[in-house]
This record gives sequence, structure tokens and C-alpha cells, in this order.
Amino acid sequence: MSVKTTCPYCGVGCGVNLIDAQSENERVPSVSGDVDHPANFGRLCVKGSSLAQTIQSDDRLLTPMVDGQPVAWQSAIDTVSAKIAQVVKDHGPDAFAFYLSGQILTEDYYVANKLAKGFIGTANVDTNSRLCMASAVVGYKRAFGSDTVPCNYEDLECCDLLIMVGSNAAWTHPILYQRIAAAKKQRPSMRVVVIDPRETATCDIADLHLAIKPGSDAAIFSFLLSDSAQAGILDHDFIANHTNGFASALAQANESTPCVSFTANFCGISEQSLTSLLGWWRDTPKTVTFYSQGVNQSSSGVDKCNAIINCHLATGRIGKQGAGPFSITGQPNAMGGREVGGLANQLAAHMDFATPGAQDLVQRFWQAPNMATENGLKAVDLFQAMEKGKVKVVWIMSTNPMVSLPDTAQVRRALEKCELVIVSDCKAHTDTTAMADVLFPATGWSEKDGTVTNSERRISRQRGLLPAPGDAKHDWWAICEVAKSLGFQAAFSYQGAHDIFAEHAALSAFENEGKRDFDIGHFSRITKAEYDALVPVQWPVPEGRPQGTKRMFEDKRFFTPDGRARFVAIVPSLPKTQASQEWPFTLNTGRVRDQWHTMTRTGDAASLAKHTAQPYVEIHPKEAKRLGIQDKSLVRLTSPYGEVLLKAKLSRAVAPGNVFVPIHWTQQFANASVVSNLIPQVVDPLSGQPELKHAQVQLEAVTNL
Ligand code: SF4
Repeated sequence: MSVKTTCPYCGVGCGVNLIDAQSENERVPSVSGDVDHPANFGRLCVKGSSLAQTIQSDDRLLTPMVDGQPVAWQSAIDTVSAKIAQVVKDHGPDAFAFYLSGQILTEDYYVANKLAKGFIGTANVDTNSRLCMASAVVGYKRAFGSDTVPCNYEDLECCDLLIMVGSNAAWTHPILYQRIAAAKKQRPSMRVVVIDPRETATCDIADLHLAIKPGSDAAIFSFLLSDSAQAGILDHDFIANHTNGFASALAQANESTPCVSFTANFCGISEQSLTSLLGWWRDTPKTVTFYSQGVNQSSSGVDKCNAIINCHLATGRIGKQGAGPFSITGQPNAMGGREVGGLANQLAAHMDFATPGAQDLVQRFWQAPNMATENGLKAVDLFQAMEKGKVKVVWIMSTNPMVSLPDTAQVRRALEKCELVIVSDCKAHTDTTAMADVLFPATGWSEKDGTVTNSERRISRQRGLLPAPGDAKHDWWAICEVAKSLGFQAAFSYQGAHDIFAEHAALSAFENEGKRDFDIGHFSRITKAEYDALVPVQWPVPEGRPQGTKRMFEDKRFFTPDGRARFVAIVPSLPKTQASQEWPFTLNTGRVRDQWHTMTRTGDAASLAKHTAQPYVEIHPKEAKRLGIQDKSLVRLTSPYGEVLLKAKLSRAVAPGNVFVPIHWTQQFANASVVSNLIPQVVDPLSGQPELKHAQVQLEAVTNL
């Protein structure tokens, strides 16, 4: 037996054939790339190819647990609902919170959002997607009036200039990288520029690498805007008829980045390299700017996004084949979460609390008794409120904040203080399940049914094939059972994922006809058979457009009240913390090729450990020599927030004064090596996204332990 499903790792969203074969008494699942899926056309990267190794884990959570004891589902549900009811009665709805994940399916997201925002009455619904793409969301909303990704993957292949900023796609989005590399090989005139403090594997296809000072990206795009005006390549017609705010954005760019030498100096690069980029930008209308966590995980991430978008608006390089600002999500379903409104600063279905009439509309659609009325707490604020005793019940779903959030010690204090920590996971042992009072066993990737949306807005089915082990249940089911136990039977009596998807589609189109063009109303009457047979289609899919939408803004109409895109005046800034005598090294974080997030799944695949077996700190040889650090010797990294011990990896890929540490290893996999221990809880003031890629640290050779 086999099904077509979607890879659960990165935001590329590759199609996978999952095959279940029997060998004697053993189940032998295997995977292959789906040749029909438009994201990957049959390719899989090494992580996707190893999925079968992670399916039959020895560490599955098989039964609900309360205070360390196995219990029946109904008993665990009653425990949870009784506590939620009590804290809401005693302290109000904001004493409850969901902390969700870009790994869960759109249907899971939808019912969690509905329960919290419509029935419990709190908007405390945040997600680890906050760590991944929140800055890109706010950047798009400021510019376009909606969180809308303009481009698609084909644009990456047919552009003439691809500027990759803050992305090591070769390792983090490998299939997209392979598509880009193949396109460049076929068409050598296509140029690739990589803007990244490190010389990463992505630089292998770069015609130019700008090894900028960490966090200085916005200055490049600020100057690109000024230079576009000076060079006479502005699209005056587009600016005049389809945008607002150009004059002030340009004036600010001229003031902030007055000349080549100033900008090059601010970014720590040569004038010559900056001039090369300027020349290529001037001469190449078909340009895509591709950006990811290096831009988003910053205390000025939103401004960086808008600095990029400004350049595309000014030159009319948007809504056209091979042109546009293209943010790539890390998580497989960060986009699906955005569509249902599964963030603390969203309401539902691309509506915010501030959207006129939105609360009333959603309340009527849901027939909700207790509507939240204002934004909830974003991830870092949520865990800070927990430590202060304001959030008393948290339900964490399919994520590992004990490793992924900044300042691990603070996260531990918050979870210790919280009166009830519920964790839904398919794994029994993670750094976060260790903090739980109640554990809900969740179905895993090969068992779940639902939809995900990838970075090019493509909605694809995840299809379960294997039976759930033990008492594992779908996340949406557990949420609905708790909702029913709280007394909300009618609103949460779904027969399956199909019902939820149809309701989500209907809400996205509710009273919406003729007003907006970013819903999936076409699916509101989808039958179960149609849902089961759903082929990948690009959001939005409004009534009358069943084929979806390949590229946005081709009609030059944006989702602002007057239909015009907005320029934003940007003052480039550097990361909040800077080098000092006490903390002289700048820490950068990221991923290695063969691991995913906190290794709760990829850690099960023995073959994936071969590429990088242990955590490490990458140090420039010059600095290592000065500090008496040998290759592979032990190094202590300290910051004001904690310390970690890592093996040194001497490398010229990092500049002197900088170090790099991968994010994956946890207390479970390598004691005392969790890099989040070192990172402050500094966030972008607009998006709340933590500056996870930046901390100031001290290094010392460890001679004895
Ligand atoms: Fe999975 Fe991403 Fe690899 Fe595709 S590129 S197979 S989605 S990890």
C-alpha cells in the first residue's frame, strides 16, 4: 500500500510517496520522492530520504500520562479540562495559553485557534513559527496590507539575478537549492549573490558572496534603493499608480546610507563587492530576493524585510515572472498556521483583531460564546508571563521550547512555575516532555491526515498510512475532546480532518465575496472524497479559481484599503548586543545539513548522524591560535545567560571575531551543549521574533573539567 503525502521537515514542502510493505511479520515502510509534486518533482534531500528510519521509533509516547502515571484518555482529558475551567474562572481566560508548532497540520491549528480565541476567550495562541517567519509576516503586512508571499518556486529558476540573504539553502532548503543550482547550470548567465556573514555551502553556486558584518543586511538594501534612484532605474509609473510613501522611504535611504563607502564600511565589506551587486541589480529587471532566518531572526527583522521589499517596489520588480521579494519559511506548515490565524497577533483567516468588523464576523461564524478581543502574548512574552505566574496552564504541541527558545534557564523557570504543563508529542522523551504534568500521545507524520502549506503557498495533503501505535491520537482530536469536556460539544464535533478543512475554507470566505481575494472559499463545499484526492494547489483558491494562484500581485492591486503597496522608511540598525571587552565574540547560530530542529525525529535516523556526529563551535584559526584552542579540543562558551561546552572546529568560513554553533543538540543528545543557553531574549519590537542568530560570548580553552 502507498499514499502520496508531504515531507514533514522544511518549508519546501516536498511530495513523498510513503510505501508500507510487509516482510514476514515485520512492517517495512519506505519513502520515495513524488514525481508529480510541483515542489520537488521526485527529488528528496537526505533528510527526506531518511524519513522511513524515523517512523518506527523506540521512543514513542504510547499512552496519556498524568504526573508520570499512565492513565486512560478520558481521565487525562478530564484532568486538563477541569484545570482549564478552574484557572479561567479564578484568573480569567488569559491564564491559559497554547504554544503550537509549524509542524502541526492546518486542521490542528484551526481547532486550537478556535478553542482559545472563540470559546476560552484568550488570544494566547502562539507558535514556534514565531521563531521562524514572524518578521516576514509583519514585513509583508506593512507593505502589502496582508501577509502574502508574492512569488513561486519557478521564479527562482527563471530569474536572471537571485540575491540570497540570510539563507544557507544548500543545507536548510536543499531541494530548492538543487533546483536553483540546476537552473544556473543550464543558464550560466543567471547570477547568484549570497549575503551572509559566513561562507556557507550555498556560496558554492554564488557569483558573489558579501560576507557582511552580522545583522547589517538592511544597509545593503537601503543603499540599493538610493542607488536605483541615482541610476535612473526606478519604475515611475508603478510608484505613482500603485504605491504610497516612496518619497519618505527614499529620503530616509539617502540619509541613512549616503554613499558606497559609508555602506560598505557599515556592512564590513569591500566597496568593490558592493559595486558589483549594484551594477547587477541595475542591469537585471528579473531579480528575486530570497530571504530566510538570517533576515527574520533579528531585533530589526521587520525593517530588514521592508528594506528588501522597498527595492522591489521601487523598480517594479514584483508580480512578474522571475521577480519579487520571496521569504522562505523554515517549518513545513508555518504558512498553514498563518492562514488560519494561529498567531497571538492574528484573529483567524487572515484577519486581525484590528480588522474592522472581524471579531463580530468570526464570532457569528463560530457562534462563539467567549471571543478574545485583543492580541495575546507572543512566544517570548508568553514564557515571561508564565514565570511571573500570569499564565497558569500551557498546552505545548509538537515542539520543544526547552531547546528552541532563547535563554533556556528562563524557559525552565517558566515551566516550573506554571501550574499545569500539557505536552502533546509523539515522542516520550524530549527536553520539554520532561517538564510536563500531562502528556498526550500524538500521532506521527506517517499516521496523520490533513493539509500543510509550503513556502510558495502550495496547499498539499499529508496522508496517514500506518496505524497509530498504542493510544496515540490526532492533535485535532485531543483539542476537540478537551473542548467538548469544557462544554463546547456542538462546535467541536468533527468527524475528521476533512470537516475541519471545509469549515476553515468556509470561514476564510465568510461574508467575503467581492471584498478580498485571499481566501480558499472554493473548498468550503469540498466532499470527503475530493479532500482525500486533493492535489497540490496554490493559495489563494477563491470561488471560481479552482486552479489557485501561481503568482500574486500580477494585477498590481494590493490588500491595503486603497489597493496600493506601501514603502516603509527604514533606518538600518545593528543587533541589540554588540561586542565588548567582556563578551568579545559574536555568536551566530544555524543548522547543519542532516539534522532538523531539535533532533527529536532526525536523531532517530542513524545514517543522518554520519554527516555531523557532534555539536561544535566553528572558530577562525587565527582566533583559535590566540586562545590556545586546538581543532577538536573542548571550548567553554559563556554569555551573561549561561554556558555551553563544545568541540572546536577550526574554519575560515567564519570571520575572526565571529563563531558559529548549530542549534540542534539538546540535553538529551549532548549534555550541556544547548546553544539557546547563551542567547538573550531580545526580540524584534514589531514581530516579537527573537534575535536567535546573535549573542555576544566569551571563549576559553578547557584544559580540565
Ligand atoms: Fe523534506 Fe525539505 Fe528535504 Fe524537501 S527539502 S525533502 S521538504 S527536508
